[in-house]
Order: sequence, then C-alpha cells, then structure tokens
Amino acid sequence: MVQKFGGTSVADCARIEHVADLVCKARRAGDDLVVVVSAMAGETDRLLGLGKSICQRPSLREMDVLLSSGEQVSMALLAIALEKRGQAARSFTGAQVCIRTDRDHGKARIEAIEEGKLRAALADHCVPVVAGFQGVNADGDITTLGRGGSDTTAVALAAALKADECRIYTDVDGVYTTDPRMVPEARRLARITFDEMLELSGQGSKVLQVRAVEFAGKYNVPLRVLSTFKQGQGTLITYEDDVMEAPVVSAIAFNRDEAEITLIGVPDQPGAAFQVLGPVSEAGIVVDMIVQNVARDGRLDFTFTLHRNDYSQAMEILQANLKNSGAQRLVGNDRVVKISLVGVGMRSHSGVATRMFQTLAGQGINIRLVATSEIKISVVVDEKHLEAGVRALHAAFGLHQPQPRNQAAGKGGRAG
Ligand code: ASP
Ligand code: MG
Repeated sequence: MVQKFGGTSVADCARIEHVADLVCKARRAGDDLVVVVSAMAGETDRLLGLGKSICQRPSLREMDVLLSSGEQVSMALLAIALEKRGQAARSFTGAQVCIRTDRDHGKARIEAIEEGKLRAALADHCVPVVAGFQGVNADGDITTLGRGGSDTTAVALAAALKADECRIYTDVDGVYTTDPRMVPEARRLARITFDEMLELSGQGSKVLQVRAVEFAGKYNVPLRVLSTFKQGQGTLITYEDDVMEAPVVSAIAFNRDEAEITLIGVPDQPGAAFQVLGPVSEAGIVVDMIVQNVARDGRLDFTFTLHRNDYSQAMEILQANLKNSGAQRLVGNDRVVKISLVGVGMRSHSGVATRMFQTLAGQGINIRLVATSEIKISVVVDEKHLEAGVRALHAAFGLHQPQPRNQAAGKGGRAG
C-alpha cells in the first residue's frame, strides 16, 4: 500500500508524530508500506515567496531546487518519528529513488521509476518515506511536478509497485458534492469514478492533483481519499461499473482563479485561431475554455479563459501580437470564476444545462461563457456571483440530500 500525507497532515512535529502512529498501525495490520509526504503546510508558498522576493521571474531550475527542499524536511522528520517508535524507516528524495522526469522544470512529467531501492528497503522491513512532488531529469537536475504534485508521486509509486491501493491522507475526510466550507449541506461521496474525479480536479476541486487522477485512471490504481485526523472510509475513486448507480449530477466544482480574454474583430479566415493562440501557448500558458462565435461581416470574436496568474503575461503577448492576428481590439477580465456541474449520469439525461441556466437566472446571475463535455457543464460568471451560484445549484440538483439515485441508463429524471 502507498500512503501519502499532505501538507496539513505534516504541518508541525505533533502532527508528524500522529502520522507516524498511523503508519505504525498500518504496518502492524501487516501491510507493506511506502509513504509519500508533502512539505509542511504553507512551506512551498513560503519558499516561492522567498524566490520571488529576490527576482520576479527566477530561473525555473533554481526554483525547483528551492521548492523541493520543503518535502525533504518532512520526509526526514517522519523517518525520525518512525524510528523513535521502533519502526525501521529510511527517507528518500525523488532522485534517490530515481523518479525520472522530463526537463520541464516546475511541471515535469514522470517518465520512469526504478523500484529497486524501494523494494530493497521493503525487504529490510523498513518503511521508505519518499519526498513527494520531486524527481530528477536526465541531466541529474532536480525537477518538481507542479503544485499538488505529491499526489502524483504517490500514484506513480503505487502503479510502479503494483500496490493494492493508494491512500491519499488529507485534511478532509473524502470527496464532497461541493466544498463544504461554501455549502454546509455538502455531503461526502462514498465512491466516484475516475472520469468524474478528473473533471472535478480539472475544474478546481483541490482535493487531488489532476495528473494524479489521470495516472491512477490510466494504470488502474485504486485511489482512496481519507482524513488523517478522523477515522472513516473516505471516498474510493474507481472505474464506473454496472453496479454503480449514477446520479445525473454527482458534484459541483468551482474555480476562483479564472480570467477571460477576448479578441474582438478577428478576421474570419483559416489560421485565425492559430494566430491568436499560438504565441500564448508558446509561452507555456495553458488555455482552458475556448469560444469562437460565428463571423459577421468577415470578422469574429474569439474568447478564451486561463489561470488568473497567467493573465497579465497573456495580455502583454496578445497586445504585442495584435497587428499580426488582425484583431481590432483586446479586452480582458480577471475577476471571473468558473462553476461546473459534473456527473457521469449526464450522458443519459437531457435538460441538465437547461436546469442549470434556469437556476442561475433565478438568482439574477449572468452567464458569460458556457462549455460542455460529455459529463460536465461549466459556466463562467462574475466573481461576485460565485457563492450564490454554487449554493443554488447544489440545492437545485438535489445534492443536499442523499439522492434517489437513478440507474445509469435511460430511466426518467429528465430535467428539461
Ligand atoms: N508541496 C507541494 C505543493 O504545495 C506539493 C504538494 O503538496 O503536493 O504544491
Ligand atoms: Mg495536495
């Protein structure tokens, strides 16, 4: 089994000692364990702040050296706490267990893992404690896997070791229908599919890193999210099967860190979209929703959303490229948010969008953009409408109560 403990679980020495108790308990139950740790809560942000206080755009290589140090502190402290309890333990950096990644500093992808060191430690009845979030590239340089990347480390190790389960211990006791801090009626889900979880992570649910869920789905690693502080079964993330009943909407995710950019009057011709987005993606900026409307008088408007942190850089790039793209004007808004309904049951039910729009209209909320996938509907709205929107939707789709769950295919429940 792989157990991963997040930042709040190792926030101070008392909590690290508590984690050591949990690890010892699992060992006594007979499980072979590999443990992955995050940096102590707030530490990665603190380090990031230090780097940025010296230079606004520090070298990515050096930032990885800096940020990866947070996890090294936790791994050593946990190993010390385990040894104090008589449990043999050995801490390892990403490089020491050969978590090999590409060269993309700050968001590197794992390419290979050599399990030799870990297997050897396990054979010695020793608990390996691995630093999450970090790897090493072909040059031997330290890389990091993107914020929240310790989840990915854990899943990747579980896949490489063919673990029975990858347990993500965190400060919440599972995946909820929405963030309970915003909607007190939100409920914990006992199970959810990889596809749904992928959408939730992608749409702003901070419970699991997107890459970790992708990885788990691809290698079929059973993933469980559970609390470090409260006993319980947590939420199991698995494949969809026939037995699993699919509510139309399983959960609502939201993302506060959105921004929206529109190019007005882009010439309606082949290559127009490429002209606009090419320079943005070349700068490594990830674009999310893309909306292009039908042209009128040979020109069209082109809108896309992106992370708020990338907003000013994208605006600069587009402004500099305005002549090239042929657009007449550039407008942007970085005070927007995204709300998404997610549910595999949407595949077989119509009217979900209609009910969503009706609910938002009822709150006097204006919808700026809409995007859909097979199991998701997202809208972008003004920041000030976030809470009212999420609360109204949570109630409208019956997420307050345990749902009368429809069988996945075909049965009634049509909304529109
Ligand atoms: N410490 C890193 C972060 O804060 C990685 C992680 O916690 O998963 O993003
Ligand atoms: Mg995390």
